[in-house]
Amino acid sequence: MAGLQPIYHEEVTLKEELGKLLALQDIDLRIRKLDEEIATGQGSLDGIQSGIDGYLEEVEDLKERLEVVGKEKLDVETELEDETTRLKDRQTKLMNVQTNREYQSLLKEIEETKSANKRRAEEVERYLEIAEAMQAKIEMLGESAEEERANLLDQQKKVETMSQELEVQKTKISKERKGKIDGVSKGVYRRYEQLRERRNGMAIVGVTDGVCQGCYMNIPPQQYNELLRGDELHSCPSCQRMMFHKPASEEE
Ligand SMILES: [Zn+2]
Repeated sequence: MAGLQPIYHEEVTLKEELGKLLALQDIDLRIRKLDEEIATGQGSLDGIQSGIDGYLEEVEDLKERLEVVGKEKLDVETELEDETTRLKDRQTKLMNVQTNREYQSLLKEIEETKSANKRRAEEVERYLEIAEAMQAKIEMLGESAEEERANLLDQQKKVETMSQELEVQKTKISKERKGKIDGVSKGVYRRYEQLRERRNGMAIVGVTDGVCQGCYMNIPPQQYNELLRGDELHSCPSCQRMMFHKPASEEE
């Protein structure tokens, strides 16, 4: 679609049609804003929900790790029990040894087992501490999830009420919209809809001092002169938006 080519139409005067188009665009921008507000409300709910999901995932992860810690602790405890039994056996044996060499060797084994068992007992203690800390974290996360669930319920009610109000406004505005479409020729309306989708809701823009207010590019002088004459609908050669002349004084 060549932007330089003006769009001709005859049914209504250009000025009237421009007025309707601008009113239509204003309505569509308001609807768009309402949709955005509704989406923002929904987005905040999604944010809370994903926070809750995050807490629960962490809880699951911790529970799995806690299980591993429990198993490792049990292994060391079993080892400690076995070694304690063997230690008692050696101590009994110690009373019945015949030679000094045997006695010394057994004594050495006993001492080694004792210090190994001391390390094992300390390890069990460490596992207990780790498990306790994990358990505390799981509880804390569970509480946070609960709080956020209550918050979510609260927010859901608010968002629902707000969305309903916004929908009512939207319905009202949408009725106005129908009235405006009637004043715009079919071809122009189709073009408006295409541009609106591609150009972030702005299908028709003012041109001030030869500059398109949609893309801020200069309009070629000849086209600008034609635009000033105001008998054809022009499109911006850069952004393809429909244009109308907007004197600088109209801007605040
Ligand atoms: Zn432009």
